[in-house]
Amino acid sequence: MNRRYYIATMGCQMNQYDSDHLGQVLQNSGYLPSENPKEADLILINTCTVRAKAEQKAYSLLGRMAALKRKRPDTVLAMMGCIAQQEGGRLLDRFPHLDLVVGTREISKITEFLKKIEENGERVVATDLHQGPLTLVNRPGYFSGRVTGFVSIMEGCDNFCSYCVVPYVRGREVSRAPEEILQEVTCLVEQGVKEVTLLGQNVNSYYTYGEDKRFGFPDLLQTLNRVDGLKRIRFTTSHPKDLSDALIQCFADLEHLCPHIHLPFQAGSNKILEAMRRGYTRERYMALVQKLREARPDIAVTGDVMVGFPGESEQDFKMTLDLIKKIEFDMLFSFSYSDRKGTEAEKMKDKISAPMKRRRLTDLQTMQRDMTLEKNRALVGSVTEVLVEGESKKGGQLTGRTGTNKVVNFMGNNGLIGHIVDVTVKEAYANSLWAEPTPKEPAT
Ligand code: SAH
Ligand code: SF4
Repeated sequence: MNRRYYIATMGCQMNQYDSDHLGQVLQNSGYLPSENPKEADLILINTCTVRAKAEQKAYSLLGRMAALKRKRPDTVLAMMGCIAQQEGGRLLDRFPHLDLVVGTREISKITEFLKKIEENGERVVATDLHQGPLTLVNRPGYFSGRVTGFVSIMEGCDNFCSYCVVPYVRGREVSRAPEEILQEVTCLVEQGVKEVTLLGQNVNSYYTYGEDKRFGFPDLLQTLNRVDGLKRIRFTTSHPKDLSDALIQCFADLEHLCPHIHLPFQAGSNKILEAMRRGYTRERYMALVQKLREARPDIAVTGDVMVGFPGESEQDFKMTLDLIKKIEFDMLFSFSYSDRKGTEAEKMKDKISAPMKRRRLTDLQTMQRDMTLEKNRALVGSVTEVLVEGESKKGGQLTGRTGTNKVVNFMGNNGLIGHIVDVTVKEAYANSLWAEPTPKEPAT
């Protein structure tokens, strides 16, 4: 009988991508997927450690999964992802029910590790960070039914922003070969995927060498723009310090590149940006956004921002609010700073108190919510293209996204899934738009 696996994925899109990579490897070696951990022979928890909250969530899930294992001792329990990479063997010491700890660069070798566990009764830790990026694993049909997909183009990060744990748990930057990325995108398109999001911690520093010529991120976008059947290309995340004019030009030139950029800025005060080691100033950030808007006037700009970095004064925080007002973001992901083990900021003085961080975060979120709503309201009455991704959670409705990455719900039949349709925006909310299909002009 086939063995079953269950993967719980926490954290960012890179983790979702890794879970799918692993799912394909497991299915290629005879495992079947399961939605229910109680029935699974193999339970994997794909973890995130970028902020303290994510880490707490992972440990509480591990506790629940360990309880299942106590009832079914033959189940193999594994921890993967960023906590696995950071903690390694310490996890086996702390959690006697854990059989496997597999780091971010070793997941392709999962079947080797499972063999050791099942045949020799070993407990395994595999956290070598010096492996190359993941290589293509194609299981035809795995992505059937999906309209959108992720493709990792690079792994790791060399930036060492002072607050961030990613460089420690994802290793040094390595870019995948363009041929392999192209092959992976083509595999997805053959399975019905219409939109790909290219993933990397800092996609702007993607490069390889081909025939003695540097092949950078704009070159990769140009190559993928020519893939037959691929309707939309997105990417995340872009670092402002490496955002080149050539990349900005792509937004003007490439028909399949969506008019949306996620450009984290983290703070609006130059003092804090410097302490964060971000490598740009607020003035440079604003100039970049202006250039992007000149190249593609309808571009949506979103970002990440943090409050409560060590030493952040009320004045620094006001500079962040001021930057947000000036840029007029379509949407923001905002976080409260938390200490991460081994980072430079962890050792800094002048930590901001929890109540102060909460207050700043609430102020910022309230302000941005109003701004997002206002931007969405301005769309009411306009016609926009939506790539239909599936049925929405509320029955009878379809859901999709605009090129600018706004969620749109509307009434329609399932035959539209996977197609780009014109809709007229009728109502606007903070997180979505409500629309009606726009009747086609009769052909003349
Ligand atoms: N590579 C991406 C960020 C990945 S982490 C980039 O450079 O933009 C995703 C987001 O988590 C970051 O943009 C930051 O806003 C937030 N973050 C990272 N470390 C954090 C910490 N220690 N405390 C709070 N938020 C943090
Ligand atoms: Fe972290 Fe900075 Fe690298 Fe982003 S660029 S992953 S924030 S170190």
